[in-house]
Amino acid sequence: MSIFGPVPSRRLGSSLGINNIPYKICSYTCVYCQIGPTLRMETQRQHYSDPEELAARVKKRLSQLVETGERVDYLTIVPDGEPTLDLALEELLLRLKETGIPVAVISNASLISKADVRRALYVADWVSLKIDALTENLWKRIDRPHPSLDHGDILVGMEEFARSYKGTLCSETMLVKGLNDGPAELEKVARFISSSLSPSKAYISVPTRPPAASWVQMPDAETVAAAYAIFTEQGIDTETLTGYEGNAFVVTDDPVEEILNITAVHPMRSDAVKEVLRRKGSDEKSIDRLVAEGRIRRVQYGNWVYYVRVMKEGER
Ligand code: SF4
Repeated sequence: MSIFGPVPSRRLGSSLGINNIPYKICSYTCVYCQIGPTLRMETQRQHYSDPEELAARVKKRLSQLVETGERVDYLTIVPDGEPTLDLALEELLLRLKETGIPVAVISNASLISKADVRRALYVADWVSLKIDALTENLWKRIDRPHPSLDHGDILVGMEEFARSYKGTLCSETMLVKGLNDGPAELEKVARFISSSLSPSKAYISVPTRPPAASWVQMPDAETVAAAYAIFTEQGIDTETLTGYEGNAFVVTDDPVEEILNITAVHPMRSDAVKEVLRRKGSDEKSIDRLVAEGRIRRVQYGNWVYYVRVMKEGER
């Protein structure tokens, strides 16, 4: 059980991380897991954290941060395993909410068919649910679930949760090259997200840190752009998490900087790029220069040209 940060998070701003599960107890052992292989596969909920003690430590840490003038936007349950395995999660969230700071939970959604898990998550202000594949076989190959889990039940549970949840719901889909990054699967995932979850935002991520299975590869920029297009065509507000901490919210007069900031968050359609250039009184030569310098790339997808940020080590 640990508290870490605050760390800057593109999704949550300045986030104080709270770990309520012992190291690597999870219901999945995802091929891309950046924490490493799961040490104990589990689906039975147990009391892992002591909410009173953990919340007291968080409150103490918050008073220290007040003294140093550091801001905390979210208290985020982001453990080295699956947070909903903790039977004390609901009480922990209620105690954390006493601080007045919004509370977020990042979950793999595997236990969401259980009513008590949904009830616990309803307490959170912000919830992210994982949806890597709609096809059961792909779900098994990517997330490598505990054998007792049923994919159909999870999808129904997610739908039920989304119907009643009053907070900010997000989804996260991790793309693994050659597995779930093809258009057929992504269209199924996008349709499910759009029709059954209607999240505030869907995040598409790629494995940017060493994965649990060494053969896992990051999809290329073209594939990420295609995934983004497939999601947005379903009317989903989508962002990509490709390892950049670019700041799309920075107000700048420099069109090049603005395009780099936005493409750090998601690929940009050529008409949007032209609009930025027009607003800033610039012309397409600046974008040609970025392409020539190898900082962004032009990608054709469907009827549109997209601009995608080129990922380089050191820029992450
Ligand atoms: S659900 Fe999260 S913690 Fe569990 S194996 Fe997958 S990536 Fe790792």
